[in-house]
Amino acid sequence: MSAVLTPTTLDQALMLLAEHPDALPLAGGTDLLVRLRGMVPGSTPPLLSLARLEELRGITLEDAFLSIGAATSFSRIIDDPLINRHAPLLARAARTIGGPAIRNMATIGGNVRTGSPAGDSLPPLYLYGAGIEMASPAGRRVVPIGDFLLGPGRTALQEGEVITRILVPRAAPFSHACFEKIGRRRALAISVVSFAALARLSEDGTIAAIRMAWGSVGPTVVRLPALEAELTGAPVDRAAIEHLRNMVRRGVSPIDDLRASAEYRRLVAVNLAARFVEELRG
Ligand SMILES: Cc1cc2nc3c(=O)[nH]c(=O)nc-3n(C[C@H](O)[C@H](O)[C@H](O)COP(=O)(O)OP(=O)(O)OC[C@H]3O[C@@H](n4cnc5c(N)ncnc54)[C@H](O)[C@@H]3O)c2cc1C
Repeated sequence: MSAVLTPTTLDQALMLLAEHPDALPLAGGTDLLVRLRGMVPGSTPPLLSLARLEELRGITLEDAFLSIGAATSFSRIIDDPLINRHAPLLARAARTIGGPAIRNMATIGGNVRTGSPAGDSLPPLYLYGAGIEMASPAGRRVVPIGDFLLGPGRTALQEGEVITRILVPRAAPFSHACFEKIGRRRALAISVVSFAALARLSEDGTIAAIRMAWGSVGPTVVRLPALEAELTGAPVDRAAIEHLRNMVRRGVSPIDDLRASAEYRRLVAVNLAARFVEELRG
């Protein structure tokens, strides 16, 4: 059984982390406790509980961004009016995470730090251009999510740092939004492929802005900025859809694993994007 450190303020937490550099921050525990289960008793590192840190909770609207405490649970995110207004895709993605008991415990900071290619909050956070705020005794810094996630389970978080908040820049609303998660079962499943997209149409029916992101088809979330640029301002005709299919097929790099083959994942990634763009025509 690990020793559990229970700070009541962020400053105290950072001090304890400096004193115990091997300590692991514990938020909802839905990833961490599963990971520690297999470890030899006595060999487990101390846990730094984030449960009492008010600074890591809550959702507020600032001038330039929506600020989400790292220890905010997905149940809270689903119901929050600010999230539903300013980052509705995040609420949609949160609804697909685990079952109700997992969503009550699991936090957005834990999801980001776990850095799984299948992490469901990640594609929406990429589309919204979220920043990850971290604190250490040296101060705070914010890193764009695309620079924070370096590979499966690998992030830019440094020793002695804690994720404090997720910052979602305020932006003009999009007219079309989609979050699709394909799993092996209809419910409670980790995604085989996920797809998130936002778009805004011009008055002439062309695409004024489009953002797309795929989960579980690469070491981190996949974005295809060249494809987004090509679709912007162009008519969405058959040739454009065929071109999109080719670009997505080449742009994703899924692997075979127990849940699905790489080829199946590639096909689903292509079809989800093509369907979203075809629906914009309608
Ligand atoms: C049955 C089950 C179903 C699941 N289904 C899904 C699913 O559908 N979709 C999905 O995306 N995930 C799913 N997960 C994974 C998990 O629930 C999520 O990744 C969750 O968001 C992790 O958050 P947590 O608060 O429980 O993190 P924890 O388990 O507490 O921590 C996870 C990691 O993050 C670190 N950490 C946590 N908070 C911070 C912080 N503030 N600063 C620095 N490091 C921190 C911990 O040290 C640890 O390394 C599932 C898990 C289970 C057990």
